[in-house]
Amino acid sequence: MAGLHVRSVLVTGANRGLGLGFVQHFLKMPNPPQWIFAGCRDPKGQRELQNLASKHPNIIIIQLEVSDPTSIKAAAAKVGEHLGGSGLNLLINNAGMAKPCSLDNETPENMIQVYTTNTVGPLLMGQAFLPLLKKAAQETPGSGLSCSKAAIVNMSSYAGSIEDMYVWEFGQVVSYRCSKAALNMLSKCQSLAYKEHGILCITFHPGWVQTDMTGGPPLTVDDSVQGMLKMLSSISEKETGAFLDWEGKVLPW
Ligand code: NDP
Repeated sequence: MAGLHVRSVLVTGANRGLGLGFVQHFLKMPNPPQWIFAGCRDPKGQRELQNLASKHPNIIIIQLEVSDPTSIKAAAAKVGEHLGGSGLNLLINNAGMAKPCSLDNETPENMIQVYTTNTVGPLLMGQAFLPLLKKAAQETPGSGLSCSKAAIVNMSSYAGSIEDMYVWEFGQVVSYRCSKAALNMLSKCQSLAYKEHGILCITFHPGWVQTDMTGGPPLTVDDSVQGMLKMLSSISEKETGAFLDWEGKVLPW
């Protein structure tokens, strides 16, 4: 990953699935970040993350519930303290949830809970971490945008594509699709508003990956994360605001 040099990264939902995969892959880089902030709801209950953190002092576990604005503000303050005056290069809004509902049995409660987690969470994370991201952009020389400088990566889903209606036969998951379509719009808004601050913003479909969320599709967490990191190492201001998959393909909105 020669092209990705981040001093600091925060991954939300880092205790399992793709989030944990990101943490593991950052550790394996030839030039690992000095700080890998691993956000999770229940730090004490995460044996795998705890084990990793006990071996790698650059992992800092941060309590973070992305549906709770107070938790987000507290996490931003904690991360700021650790960084001691320097900025945060990369924010990966990975935490997400799905409810396996069809159009017939979808409920207001699901719609609100899934939207709050998958869409409002990344909005508030962007707002709370903006000062640290801005600082990272100011600290890094050069005028262009890059993920090594300052970036927000929103983990969306092809299931949020209105044009393609990806894997509709597999599951209607209406609340999930709506939340990810809205997250795509949020990412576009962030890309336009944060460009002047030197912050690149993209929205990713990680592929259909074997995690607790999905069961057993073909793609492994390792392959997906490796693909996404390769993309992150190569994208620049041309791609800010884009909806990409783990292999770099531009997806239809
Ligand atoms: P998992 O279900 O394996 O992991 C979800 C992670 O998000 C867990 O760490 C979970 O924490 C965390 N999380 C959920 N809700 C919250 C919350 N309110 N606050 C903080 N953390 C929370 O999912 P994946 O790893 O598969 O998914 C990661 C992201 O990728 C999601 O945004 C998902 O929508 C997206 N994605 C995944 C695909 C796939 O094929 N796997 C396809 C397309 C998109 P906890 O353990 O505490 O529940």
